Amino acid sequence: MRPFTSTISLEEARRRLAASVRPISRSERVGLEHAGGRVAAAEVSSPIDVPPFSRSAMDGYAVVAATTAGASRSSPARLRLLDRIYTGATSSVTVTAGACAEIATGAPLPAGADAVVMVEETAHGGDAIEIFAAASPGQNIGRRGADILAGDRVVSAGDLLTPSRVGALAAVGCRDVEVYAKPRVAILSTGNEVVEPGQVLAPGQIFDVNRFTLTAIVSAHGGVPEPQRAEQDEVEALVAALDRCAEADLVVFSGGSSVGERDLVVDAIRARGEMIFHGVAVRPGKPTAFAIVSGTPFFGMPGNPTSCLSNAYILLVPFLRAVARLPPHAPRTLRVPLGRRIVSAANRHQFYTVRLQDGVAHPAFKGSGDITSLSHADGYIEIPADQDTVAEGALVDVTLF
Ligand code: AMP
Ligand code: MG
Repeated sequence: MRPFTSTISLEEARRRLAASVRPISRSERVGLEHAGGRVAAAEVSSPIDVPPFSRSAMDGYAVVAATTAGASRSSPARLRLLDRIYTGATSSVTVTAGACAEIATGAPLPAGADAVVMVEETAHGGDAIEIFAAASPGQNIGRRGADILAGDRVVSAGDLLTPSRVGALAAVGCRDVEVYAKPRVAILSTGNEVVEPGQVLAPGQIFDVNRFTLTAIVSAHGGVPEPQRAEQDEVEALVAALDRCAEADLVVFSGGSSVGERDLVVDAIRARGEMIFHGVAVRPGKPTAFAIVSGTPFFGMPGNPTSCLSNAYILLVPFLRAVARLPPHAPRTLRVPLGRRIVSAANRHQFYTVRLQDGVAHPAFKGSGDITSLSHADGYIEIPADQDTVAEGALVDVTLF
């Protein structure tokens, strides 16, 4: 065995990772239907006023407000109907004192009118329209440019394109938008025993889990996963794999990152790059490495599926999101009592998975090798390195996946 030379704390690992982030600089144009969840790479200013014309905010009658002064149910203003104005077309009439035009919500306000009386406050009275309430100038009108003026900034570079910002871009007539490219993330499992799902296992073999958990989590946090075939535990093969992945923005290997004789990922990194850390005082997931290989950030995740995915949540996701220029992930947390006492390994910050049932957190952690430690859990609690038990009934903060 070749012991970890320097296991570092979780805080120190986070510090070193944050210091290594190079936010992506490539950008691309995407159609607005694909813009949701992307990050704007350039400011967009509006070429038009929105709305582009003054319009009615109600179904009703466009009027000159002054002609309705003093109108009430018992003494309505009686107005002559000049036109019916529907959406999508303008009217050529000019509304004058004593007259009105029927108007639909969203239809252009006719010349002369300065207010809209909602249909509920009107009635047909013979050949006139009766208005039961005095209107004030501007009432029920959406003025041209009230939402966005030509030249206004619609989005800024670095803005996350939320559904509403995509809507604002659409409102000003954008068809596409310049966004930062999603980081390409090469994903590769290592281990002589690891085989593709879809075949019959030979004795000693297991199906590749990490390639799929990592692919799923990378897609969920703004990366483009580029999964590769698993590699054998041979330094030359791993170095060649590293070279193949050099074009990616981020490389994630799993397995072979520990200190056993066949854990050769660390040797492969040393052959090509600079190790930033190897060994983090967390449980599960201590044998995690981070390096810069040929200028590309590299994560060497433990092979145990729960260790690998746990550290993907804790270390990889914040890093990936920062490279992608996405805001930090803010998972929901719940404070609930613990259903059963937990004993934690001393000296390592533990991420302990729990299942929620009837407002109680039940321990769900089985072992680092067991994917059901996570797949049968709803979230995790954190137990600091200097704490060794959490009592039954203690209030715990559960971070939901
Ligand atoms: P390692 O980190 O290579 O020492 O592997 C630790 C444990 O995780 C071993 O039991 C491996 O068989 C298992 N393991 C490694 N890689 C994978 C993988 N991609 N999918 C599922 N299990 C794995
Ligand atoms: Mg291995």
